[in-house]
Amino acid sequence: MTQKKARYIIIGAGLSGLTTAFKLHQKGETNVLILEARDRIGGRIMTENHIDFGATWFQNHHENLSSLIEEVAVEKFHQFSDGKSVLVYNSMAPAHYFENDPKYPSAFRIAGGSAALIEKLASFYTEQIHTNTVVSEIKEVDNQIFISTNNGNYIADKVIVTIPPRIATNIIFSPELPAHLIHDMKNTHTWMSNAMKVGLTFKTPFWKVKGFSGTLIGQIGCVTELYDHCCADEKTFALMGFVNEALRDLSKEERKAKILAYLQKYLGDEVLNYVTYEEKDWSQDGFTASSDIKSIYMSPRYGNSKFQEFYLNGKLLFSGAETSSIHGGYMDGAVFSGLKVAEKILSQE
Ligand SMILES: Cc1cc2nc3c(=O)[nH]c(=O)nc-3n(C[C@H](O)[C@H](O)[C@H](O)COP(=O)(O)OP(=O)(O)OC[C@H]3O[C@@H](n4cnc5c(N)ncnc54)[C@H](O)[C@@H]3O)c2cc1C
Repeated sequence: MTQKKARYIIIGAGLSGLTTAFKLHQKGETNVLILEARDRIGGRIMTENHIDFGATWFQNHHENLSSLIEEVAVEKFHQFSDGKSVLVYNSMAPAHYFENDPKYPSAFRIAGGSAALIEKLASFYTEQIHTNTVVSEIKEVDNQIFISTNNGNYIADKVIVTIPPRIATNIIFSPELPAHLIHDMKNTHTWMSNAMKVGLTFKTPFWKVKGFSGTLIGQIGCVTELYDHCCADEKTFALMGFVNEALRDLSKEERKAKILAYLQKYLGDEVLNYVTYEEKDWSQDGFTASSDIKSIYMSPRYGNSKFQEFYLNGKLLFSGAETSSIHGGYMDGAVFSGLKVAEKILSQE
């Protein structure tokens, strides 16, 4: 039987929302519901068939994320980068090669894929996460918050909106949010909402056997960045990378043919023996991207102070990677904002 009422309702089961939920649970506050539009949890963290189609890497300076990973006992490991990496900077010149200095190890990945962290955080709340639940309206009535969804109505004392600010403007708020806030929400680019990833799995890591790292970089190529994406335990073998956005408007078949030909040219014929080939275009996913993604700020400024305030008479708070003043856009920012919101509501008790 679905519980439709909770003290705290968190909208969005991405990293930020689940971090808040985890922290509330730790402090003994379990009267929490999490409403998630998609049929899966994780938001921009999505691991399928051993491939991270969303967030993948983090570094030592991502301290909030690193501590959380340690706290919930999820394993991390270094992105593999030994061997010859390929640099494509000119379509007519032959490939150039470079090697990473082993003294400066590359970024970390999460063992089992980034979704391993999501699953761990969500494990404290299985029954209280309602997927396939799209929030359309949030109104304050008689000192409570009423939330309308395609899956029925909910009532809360407080609501935490973790949806990327730009698409959170699709929700009807009542009383209306201040016009200056709506303006800033609409102008906050959703980090990576324009990205398109490709992932291929293989029976063997043929690139390693040939002395390649699996890294292939080049803005002029069909895949602008490609990396080894084998599992931590080396039981599954994969390559994963970012598709050149210029290929977005091609048919899936045309794009695949171009990508395979490109990878074949630089890594060898073995590329064609892939076991699975999959793509994820985040720009086509309405729970991350808005339709106007054609122009993109490369380094958007995140952490607008307006997102740190309470709205609807102290009953609405925002969080999420784009609201974070620390490492905004990144997983670390999502965690930081999730932690801050948990602190804020607990300090109000
Ligand atoms: C391709 C790609 C690569 C990335 N690579 C990296 C990386 O390597 N390192 C890194 O640190 N970061 C990376 N990121 C960014 C990282 O994924 C985000 O910082 C982080 O996952 C954001 O978490 P969040 O909870 O703030 O937002 P989200 O994950 O976007 O969560 C918001 C949730 O709200 C839900 N939602 C939306 N609308 C509604 C609605 N109306 N009702 C109910 N629910 C709704 C969504 O479905 C989603 O689950 C990448 C992102 C992408 C897309």
